[in-house]
Amino acid sequence: MKSKVYQITAQSRSFTYESGLMGKFENFLGQFDLGRHLPEDELVPLKMHLGNNGAFKTIRPQFVKKVVDAVKKVPAKPFVTDSVRVPGYEYLEIAKEAGYTHLTLDAPVIMADGIFGNDSIKVYAGETLGEMAIASAIHDAKAMVVLTHVKGHIQAALGGAIKNISMGGISAAPRGGDWHQGRGKMHFLMGETMQWDQAKCTLCHDCMNICPSEAITFPDNVYTVDNEKCWRCGRCARVCPVEAIEVPISHEVFMKAVAEGANAVLKTFEPGKVVYINFLLEMQPECDCMPLADPPIAQDQGILISDDPVAIDTATLDILSKVSPLPGSRASDLVPKEGWDLFSLLHKKDGRLQIAEAEKLGLGNSEYELEVVG
Ligand code: SF4
Ligand code: SF4
Repeated sequence: MKSKVYQITAQSRSFTYESGLMGKFENFLGQFDLGRHLPEDELVPLKMHLGNNGAFKTIRPQFVKKVVDAVKKVPAKPFVTDSVRVPGYEYLEIAKEAGYTHLTLDAPVIMADGIFGNDSIKVYAGETLGEMAIASAIHDAKAMVVLTHVKGHIQAALGGAIKNISMGGISAAPRGGDWHQGRGKMHFLMGETMQWDQAKCTLCHDCMNICPSEAITFPDNVYTVDNEKCWRCGRCARVCPVEAIEVPISHEVFMKAVAEGANAVLKTFEPGKVVYINFLLEMQPECDCMPLADPPIAQDQGILISDDPVAIDTATLDILSKVSPLPGSRASDLVPKEGWDLFSLLHKKDGRLQIAEAEKLGLGNSEYELEVVG
C-alpha cells in the first residue's frame, strides 16, 4: 500500500491569513489527527536542527509554534530539541538568537543528549555501524514529531527527514565512550583520521575556525588534529576551499550509515508514533550546521507532512526534480537531468541512495500518494 504524503503549497491566492502558508499550515494541523500518533499526556520531542551562528534559514519559529499548539491540543507535552552539534551551552544560545525559546514557542528547548552532549543510550544500529548512542530525550520518548528544514548537504546531497533523525538523533559520543559510537562514525567508517595535503593548503584557517570542538591547531603551519577532542564531524574538510582535507568515506558507505543511524533512532519507537514535517522553504545548498545562509536553490515548495520518512523524502526529491534553479543561487547554472533533483545535481551525488537504503531496512515506502491540501 502506498504511503500518504500531504502537501501544503507555498502560494497564497488572496490577502487573507487563511490563504497564506502559515494559515494553511495551522488549518491542516487542526484537522490532522495527531492523536493517532501521539499518546495523550506524554512528552513529545519536536526534533529540529536549531542552526548555527549565521545559519538563519532554519524553520521560522512561528511554524514551530503552530506544531507546539497542535501537540498540546492532543493533549501531549511538546519540547523542542536537538542533540549537541556545537557545544550544548553555545547551541542553546544559538537557538535563542534564532527565536527558539520557551517564551516564543511555549515549549521548553533542551539538548536531547544533555548540556554536555553525552546523555545517550546505546542501541544496535546495524552491520555497518554496530552500536550507536541515541540521545536520551529521544530514546526515552514514546512518540516524536520530526521538523526538517530541507536543504542540501555536501556528503548526503539531501538534508531531509532521514538525515535529520539519523545525524541529529545520535550523540557525538556517549558518556565514558568516544566518537566510535557517535554520529561521527558515519563519516569515518573507512579510516579514523582526515588526510591533509600540505601542498594544497593555503593556511586560511577556515578549518580551524569552524571546528566545533577546537581540535585543530597549526603548529609550524602544519594542520594538526587533537584526536581526543575531535568529534569526527567532517566540517573541516567540507569548508576547505582547496580540498586539502579529505574524510575517508565513500558516498555509498555514508548513505548506508545514515540509513542505519535512522533505523537505530526509529527502533526506539513503536510503529506509527513518529510524524514527519518537511519544510521546503528557503532551501539553501548546504547544511544548517554551517555558519552561514546562502540564497535558496529553488523557489519555496511549501510543507510536506507524512508518517513515513521514506515517502516524505522521496516526495521532497521528486518535487525538487521538477523545479527550476533560482537565478543568483549556487544552482543557477545547473542543467536539469531526467530523474535528478537539484541537490543531487549540485553536490554531484545521488541523494536518493539514503532513501533506498532506508527502504531496504524497512523504515518506509518510496511508493506514495501525494495529496495537495492547501
Ligand atoms: S572533524 Fe574536523 S571540524 Fe570536526 S571535530 Fe574533528 S577536527 Fe574539528
Ligand atoms: S581550510 Fe584548507 S586551505 Fe585553509 S587552512 Fe585548512 S586545510 Fe589549509
